[in-house]
Amino acid sequence: MQNKVLIANRGEIAVRIIRACKELGIPCVAVYSTADKESLHVKFADEAICIGGPKSKDSYLNMNNIISAAIATGCNAIHPGYGFLSENEKFAEIVKKCNIKFIGPNHELISKVGNKAMAKQIAKMAYVPVVEGSDGVVKDANSGLKIANSIGYPILIKAVNGGGGKGISIVRSKAEFKKIFETTCMEAEANFGDKSVYIEKFIENPRHIEVQIIADANGNIVHLGERDCSVQRRNQKLVEEAPSPFVNNTLRKKLGQAAINIAKQVNYESVGTIEFIVDKSGNFYFIEMNTRLQVEHPVTEFVTGIDIVKEQIKIAYGQELSFKQEDIILKGHAIECRINAEDPTNYFCPSPGMIKNLVLPGGNGIRLDTHIYSNYQVPPYYDSMLAKVIVYGSTRKEALRKMRCALEEFIIEGIKTNVEFQYILMHNKDFVRGVYDTSFINHFIETGKVI
Ligand code: ADP
Ligand code: ADP
Ligand code: MG
Repeated sequence: MQNKVLIANRGEIAVRIIRACKELGIPCVAVYSTADKESLHVKFADEAICIGGPKSKDSYLNMNNIISAAIATGCNAIHPGYGFLSENEKFAEIVKKCNIKFIGPNHELISKVGNKAMAKQIAKMAYVPVVEGSDGVVKDANSGLKIANSIGYPILIKAVNGGGGKGISIVRSKAEFKKIFETTCMEAEANFGDKSVYIEKFIENPRHIEVQIIADANGNIVHLGERDCSVQRRNQKLVEEAPSPFVNNTLRKKLGQAAINIAKQVNYESVGTIEFIVDKSGNFYFIEMNTRLQVEHPVTEFVTGIDIVKEQIKIAYGQELSFKQEDIILKGHAIECRINAEDPTNYFCPSPGMIKNLVLPGGNGIRLDTHIYSNYQVPPYYDSMLAKVIVYGSTRKEALRKMRCALEEFIIEGIKTNVEFQYILMHNKDFVRGVYDTSFINHFIETGKVI
């Protein structure tokens, strides 16, 4: 049987995966909802098949329709991208049962590490520090209150299956605990199909630093260095860079080793990301592992020269990793800005609609991952991300200057976007100095320094 990949996703990541398949000479099939009929991924793939109506549950989350599409088009692998079904163990299991490769870790691994409370136990077993918190899932509000009181406020209540910055609530005092606990459980149930939550100490103003892992079926595990993703709004990343301006070689080694130890602990296979929060003194704590391709993978591709998506597909088809840890040499500096259809002057409220005029930036060391074009209608049903601008320079300063040039050239008319916000951010003196943490954007907004 000839290799053929079905891409169970949309938007820029579907386009990214199509490009990897084309470079590998593997035919690929796009799936689309009726709202995405005119999307670029539909035009770029070798074949495209409609899988349902606009709502995610009717299309990109509809397992039956996606698997039927794969069988009907003769695909022997499914790439889930990120979000949607990418970390759904049931989906991975059904795909396998249908004799189709799931391009990602197997379903047992997803069920172990995808559960955020369980992943913390695994990190502990691998002797990696974790944020102080409950011992796994908290069974009810009363026992949660006792744990929170003993840790001390503020604390976070986090959904075990949460993701994309959703399913996390902060509790600042004993008095508000029970109410917030109940609403977080209810929201977790509604959004992630599981009401289980766990408790974690809230670390004030940390950095979010994560390590990219890649592992094949033969037990070869390599890390590709770190990414700093501390510029966030609503616990979701807006800017990412590699390497982190905060991390020195000693810390880099420790983070890399900790990530490898966790991956080894579970015999990890495929690409994955180990996320840490790091305090001002350089103490780091594991928070979660993402068992999928990450939005910000391109910054790592720039500084390592490795095509992570092509490697991920090759591993799924049983190939051995073509490099060892000592072959990985980090070179230069890369920055990514996420461009969203949202209004930064109105709490980043989504702003779908018709793109009337579009000019994409270009130039040496500038990469654009996107699915938009002039006269493209941004549908209101999905994530607001429109494009990623990724730049590479020999130094951070050079990369920063390139990013400013790129954002200056970038014109999107017809809808509100955060292009200007990102442009101003690239001039902020603290960002320029590399001195920022996860509270950075909040300060900006509160003090009215930006926009
Ligand atoms: P990354 O960690 O790769 O930066 P994000 O947290 O920004 O990823 O999430 C990437 C996309 O996947 C977003 O569209 C987000 O809404 C979605 N997503 C991530 N995790 C989940 C999840 N558990 N359930 C639903 N959507 C998710
Ligand atoms: P998700 O699955 O939605 O990505 P994470 O557990 O990775 O959730 O957390 C998302 C973000 O929330 C982190 O990048 C960080 O900014 C913040 N965060 C998570 N846990 C903590 C914590 N214990 N203390 C402070 N901030 C945290
Ligand atoms: Mg995370």
